[in-house]
Amino acid sequence: MNTPDTLELRKEAAVLHKEEPVKKFVFSFKEGDGKNKQLLGGKGANLCEMTQIGLNVPPGFVISTEACLTYLANPDHLLPAGVLTQVNEQMLDVEEATGKVFGDAENPLLVSVRSGSALSMPGMMDTILNLGLNNKTLRGLINQTGNERFCYDAYRRFIQLFGKVALGVPDEKFDKIFEDVKRKAGVKLDIGLSTENLQEISERFLQVVREHTGRPFPEDVYEQLEIAIKAVFNSWMGKRAIDYRREFNITPQMANGTAVNIVAMVFGNMGNDSATGVAFTRDPGTGENIFFGEYLVNAQGEDVVAGIRTPKAVLQLKEEMPDLYRQLEELRDKLESHYREIQDFEFTIEKGVLYCLQTRNGKMNATAMVRTSVEMAKEKLISKTEALLRLKPETLEQLLHPRLDSLHKTTPLAQGLPASPGAASGQCVFDADRAELLGRADHKVILIREETKPEDIHGFFASQGILTSRGGKTSHAAVVARGMGKPCVAGAEGIRVDVKLRQAKIGERTLHEGDFITIDGGSGFVYQGVIPTVEPTFSDELKTLLQWADEVAQLKVMANADTPEAAQKALNYGAMGIGLCRTERMFNAPDRLPIVVEMILANTEEERLVALNQLLPIQKQDFKEILTTMAPRPVTVRWLDPPIHEFLPTEDELREELAHLRHLKDTASGVTNLFNSFRLLHAYDEDTKAALPFNEKGVELIDQAIVKKEQMLKKVHDLYEVNPMLGHRGVRLGLTYPEIYKMQVQAVLEAAAECQQAGIDVRPEIMVPQVCNAEELVQVKAYVQEIKENIEREKEIKLVFKFGTMIEVVRACVTADELAKEVEFFSFGTNDLTQATFSFSREDAENKFLPLYAEKNILHNNPFEILDVNGVGKLMKVAVEWGRKSNPELKVGICGEHGGQPDSIRFCHQLGLTYVSCSGPRVPVARLAAAHAKLGEAKNSSL
Ligand code: PEP
Ligand code: MG
Repeated sequence: MNTPDTLELRKEAAVLHKEEPVKKFVFSFKEGDGKNKQLLGGKGANLCEMTQIGLNVPPGFVISTEACLTYLANPDHLLPAGVLTQVNEQMLDVEEATGKVFGDAENPLLVSVRSGSALSMPGMMDTILNLGLNNKTLRGLINQTGNERFCYDAYRRFIQLFGKVALGVPDEKFDKIFEDVKRKAGVKLDIGLSTENLQEISERFLQVVREHTGRPFPEDVYEQLEIAIKAVFNSWMGKRAIDYRREFNITPQMANGTAVNIVAMVFGNMGNDSATGVAFTRDPGTGENIFFGEYLVNAQGEDVVAGIRTPKAVLQLKEEMPDLYRQLEELRDKLESHYREIQDFEFTIEKGVLYCLQTRNGKMNATAMVRTSVEMAKEKLISKTEALLRLKPETLEQLLHPRLDSLHKTTPLAQGLPASPGAASGQCVFDADRAELLGRADHKVILIREETKPEDIHGFFASQGILTSRGGKTSHAAVVARGMGKPCVAGAEGIRVDVKLRQAKIGERTLHEGDFITIDGGSGFVYQGVIPTVEPTFSDELKTLLQWADEVAQLKVMANADTPEAAQKALNYGAMGIGLCRTERMFNAPDRLPIVVEMILANTEEERLVALNQLLPIQKQDFKEILTTMAPRPVTVRWLDPPIHEFLPTEDELREELAHLRHLKDTASGVTNLFNSFRLLHAYDEDTKAALPFNEKGVELIDQAIVKKEQMLKKVHDLYEVNPMLGHRGVRLGLTYPEIYKMQVQAVLEAAAECQQAGIDVRPEIMVPQVCNAEELVQVKAYVQEIKENIEREKEIKLVFKFGTMIEVVRACVTADELAKEVEFFSFGTNDLTQATFSFSREDAENKFLPLYAEKNILHNNPFEILDVNGVGKLMKVAVEWGRKSNPELKVGICGEHGGQPDSIRFCHQLGLTYVSCSGPRVPVARLAAAHAKLGEAKNSSL
C-alpha cells in the first residue's frame, strides 16, 4: 500500500536521481496552460482547463508536442533528456491523488496514454488504455475490485491495443482469436463472454505477441509506459495522420507534433452502475439545442466510438440513472458556458461517479454550424461578430449539397441512422483501397463497411458517401463523414457485408461491387440505383447569418450570370447585382446558333446585318428579363469576347462531316437511280417510294448542306489564328466589326429604355473586354453615345447606365490612369489577367505543369484558383491607385473566378474594391468572406 512515508521516500529518490532537466516537457493537469494548444495539444490543454475550473477529471499530466518533435528528430529514437524523469515525478503525484501505485501488486494504478495535437484529428493517431497491467498487477486489480471478469476484460483489451499500437502486431491476429473463442462459447455479444473465456483470450493474446515479436509481453510497467509514449509520438508520422493533414491542409503552423496525455484510468465497464459515453452539447447534425449523445452501460469508451455495440441515446440515461443524468446535464451546461462553443465530450461513470475524460469543440456540418452560430448569438452566449467568424466561408458550400427529389417513389432497401446529411449516389465498394482506386479513375463510389476504422480514411476521401452496418451517430464513420461534409448512413443493421466476396446482402438481395446505390444521410435510407436529387434551399438561420454578414461587409457581392434563369438563381443566393453577363453565352442556345453562324459566314457588312437584325430582338428580350429580375440592382453586360471561330466547328470536324455528307449523297443518288430503274420495269408504286433523304429532295438538301459546310470550312481557314486567345477577340472584334457591338448596345439600351418606360428601375452597365489602350475605349464610346442619343430621341427619355472596361491585360493595368478617364468603372478579369501575367495558358496549364509546380513547391497555389497576390495582385494595386487618381469616382470590381475565393476576396477588400462577382452558388461563400475580410481588418488595426 502507499503510505505517506513511502511516497515521500520515492519522491526524494526521484529528485536525487533526476538527470539535469534540460527543459520542462511535462505538465500536470493542475498547472498546464489551458489555452496553449500548440504546446499541450487540444486534448491536453482542455484537460488542464477542465481540471482547473473544477470539473471531475481523473488526475493526469501532459507531455508536450515539443517533446514529440524533439523525439522524432532524434536519429536514435531516444526520448529527449529529462522527459522520463519528469514523467516519473508526475506519476508520483497521480499515485498520491488516486491512492494507488503504478505497478503495485496490491493496489495497482492503471493509466491511459492518449495522443492529442493542436488540431483535433479524430482517430488519426494512437491511444492505449489500461496500461500498467501485467501478471502481478492483474492479481492486484482482481483483489482490489473483486471483479475477475472485469479485470480479464481490461487485460485482454490492453494486450491487444498495446500489441497493435506499440509492438506492431496485426489486429487481425487478435480478432481471429477473439472470434474463435466467441464462436466456441456460442456467444454473440462481447458481454456474453465469461471470465474463463476472457482469461483464455488474454493468454492466447500474450502468446500471439510472443510469437510475433520474438519476446514476451513487457511486464515492467515503466517499460510499458516508455514504449507507449514513443508509439504515440510515432503515430504523428503514421500514414493515416499524414494523409489527414494533407487532405485538410493542416500546416505545421496549425499543428506540429502530438502531445501525450497520461491519465489515471476510470472504468465504465465495472458493472451495471458503470457506463461510458460520448456526447455533444447540441445536435451536431442539425445544430438543434438538444442534448445529443450515446452511451453504453458496462463498457469502455472505445466500444462507443468504434461502433462495436450499438449504443443508446443519452436521453435514455434519464430513465436508467436519473441522478447521473442530472449531473451530466450540469456538465453539459458548464462546458458550453465556459467554452462558449459546442463541445464534443467523453464521459465515464465508474460505480456511480461521473468523470469527464475529454472535451473539444464539436465538429459539425455546415447546417449545424450555421444554426448554432445564429442561436448562440441570439442566446447572447457569443456576439454576432463571433457568430460570423465561427464559420469558415468555404464550409457554406456544404449547404449546397443536393438532396433527394421528394417526388421519387423508390422503396428503400434498408435504413440506418442519419449520420451526416446530404444525398449521394455511386457504385458500391467494400474496402477503402478499392474506393481509392475507383475514385481516382473518376468513378463515383459509396464506401460500404461493417464499421470504419481510421485506416479507412483514404477511402473516405475517394467516396461520395459512407454506409456502415454497425455503429451509432458518434461512430468513427459518422464523425469523419460529418467533418468532411460527406453524406453518411451509419448502423444500417440489415446489411451484411462480405468484404472477401465484395458483396453485401440485404434480405434476399445482393449488392455486388459496382452496383449503384443511393444513400440519404438526412433520413438514413439506402436505395438501389441512382435517385435524382434537387438543389437545396436556404434555411432561415443562413439567411439571418448572411444578413449579418452583409451589414458588416464593405465589399458588395455580385454574381456572374448570363441568362434570366441564372439571374433569378443568383438573386436567391443573395447577389447584389450581376457583375458579369457574358453575352456570347446567350448565343449558344440551339435556336440562336444557326443565326450566329450566318453572321460569322457573312462576307459583307450587309450580309452580317441581316443576321444581326435577327439576333437583336432575341438579345433585347433576354436583357429585358435579366434587368427586370435584378432591378434595381446593377447588371453588368459584357460585349462579345471570344474569337468568333469558337462558334464554328473545328476544321477536323468539318472535314469529317463533309466526307459523310458526300458519302451520303452518293448513296442517296444511288437509291434515287434505283427507283428510276424500278420505274422502267413498271415495278414502282407509292408503297415503294423512297423516304428522305433517299429521294431527289434529299439529294438537294445534302447538296445544300455540303455547300454550307464548305463555306464554313473556308471561313475557319480565313479566321485561323496561331494564338487565338491573344488574337482577334474582345474589343478588337468590336472595332473590326462595329456592327456586332452596335447591335449589342442597341439591344441593351432599348431593353433598358423599355423597362424605364414601364416604370422599372433598371441599372445596366456596359463593359468592354480585352481593352489595352484608351483609344479603343474612345472609339467604342463614340458609337455607344450615338446609339444612346438616338434611342433617347426616339423614346423621349433619359437613359441611365454606366460605361466601363474590363482590366484583363497587363497594359491596361499600367495605363489605368488613361483608361479611367474614359470610363465609370473597371472590372478585373483575373482569369485573363493571370494568364497574361504568368504567360501560362489558362486552358492548358492546370492539366500540364501546374501539379508539378505545386509538388516541387515552385508555386504554392494554383494561380487560376487563388489570386496571385504577389504578381497579379501588384498589377491590380497599380491599376486601382492610378485609375482612382485620374477618376476619383471610379467603381472597381473583380469578375474572374477569384471573385468567389475567400483568400482572394480578403485581398480585394484590402485593395478597396467596390465589389466582387462570382458564380451564383458561391455568392453565400463570398458574402461571408467579405464580412470576414472586414472583421479581420478591424482585428489587425486593433493590434
Ligand atoms: C476573366 O478573364 O477573368 C473574365 C471574367 O473573362 P472570361 O473568363 O470570360 O475570359
Ligand atoms: Mg476574360
